[in-house]
Amino acid sequence: MNSDLIKMYQSLHLDEKVLQYCMGVEDSLKERFEAIDRTAEYNQLKVIKAMQDNRVSDIHFAATTGYGYNDLGRDTLEAVYASVFHTEAALVRPQITCGTHALTVALAGNLRPGDEILSPVGKPYDTLEGVIGIRESKGSLKEYGITYSQVNLLEDGSFDYDGIKAAINDRTRLITIQRSKGYQTRPTLSVSRIGELIAFIKNIRPDVICMVDNCYGEFVETREPTDAGADLCVGSLIKNPGGGLAPIGGYIAGKEEYVENAAYRLTSPGLGKEVGATLGLNQQLYQGLFLAPSVVASALKGAIFAANIYESLGYSVIPNGTESRHDIIQAVTLNSPEAVIAFCKGIQAAAPVDSFVTPEPWAMPGYHSDVIMAAGTFVSGSSIELSADAPIEPPYAVYFQGGLTWHHARFGIMMSLQKLYEEKLVTL
Ligand SMILES: *Cc1c(COP(=O)(O)O)cnc(C)c1O
Repeated sequence: MNSDLIKMYQSLHLDEKVLQYCMGVEDSLKERFEAIDRTAEYNQLKVIKAMQDNRVSDIHFAATTGYGYNDLGRDTLEAVYASVFHTEAALVRPQITCGTHALTVALAGNLRPGDEILSPVGKPYDTLEGVIGIRESKGSLKEYGITYSQVNLLEDGSFDYDGIKAAINDRTRLITIQRSKGYQTRPTLSVSRIGELIAFIKNIRPDVICMVDNCYGEFVETREPTDAGADLCVGSLIKNPGGGLAPIGGYIAGKEEYVENAAYRLTSPGLGKEVGATLGLNQQLYQGLFLAPSVVASALKGAIFAANIYESLGYSVIPNGTESRHDIIQAVTLNSPEAVIAFCKGIQAAAPVDSFVTPEPWAMPGYHSDVIMAAGTFVSGSSIELSADAPIEPPYAVYFQGGLTWHHARFGIMMSLQKLYEEKLVTL
């Protein structure tokens, strides 16, 4: 590394010892990074083709207000998403406030009293517990007479096919499959494993709706769950598919009927997709989608870099340094609250925004224990931007994700190690 660069890192308070250690690890990752670049290349072309096929033009960036009838930009963006996900339809709206909301709309729009939801992959993401009513919550699906059942993954992470078969009954209407591990230490599901699970379920009950919570998974592989049989695929625009530029929003892509049902829940019965002004946000949503494949590649490189650094220091990391990736989240088990807090301080200190603040654990709504979050983001709470969060509870695992550019992701990870090093929690 040349001396100007070393000086620049030092001016940002990174010790040369930390830098040298991390560079040593990076040398071994060339091939992995090349494979990530090939996936990004394919996905970049997929997005460009979707935009070309739908004749995207600058007229689509115009703002609408009020009811937003005939918002050409909005309708075309939805067609572009449908092309990318190879689905009949998509709902892509700034009125969808976050990923949890997108999932709520997809669930509530497609379920009726007496129906049952089945999760065959264990407990869903924390905020979904309130939505479904696993945890008592005002307005939950449970209050509307929708029940829930769950089959856990087996000890070795495989599907409990017998358990799933036994759990499917006459009332089972929708199967929810969470691709990413979220705040758990189970493995993330690959698109092909999701495909096997869906094939098994459809073989028993072809009419059941298979919905995938695709949060953090978009563009990590060249295929999406809708390419593997999912009827609905749901996610947040302030994660992968917004490419860091979307300031708000969520998407639901899938079968026309199910997307329409979701639209009637998002707006109103009878109105559905026809209303919803985009207020001038279309250009950011298009451009964010355009950038998303390379942004996801940067985040993935960061995750793999972090996995290899912390694994080499003796920490347990999920996924490990060499296994294949199906989402952008990296879990590092740091074994103590002090180390978790130091890690998050380092991520914060490397940020372009709010680098001078110190993150602290707090009782965040929707989560069951105190959570610490480090994020110096342009879009508030965006987790496609470099961010780290951790529930303050054993085994003291920190979940790290994002990075709009690889160089920022790399710097953030090195700073996380810097803080552990400064506080004498690791020796190099
Ligand atoms: C982030 C996430 C959600 C919820 O999204 P929010 O935008 O935080 O509401 C749901 N499921 C998974 C797997 C997620 O990662």
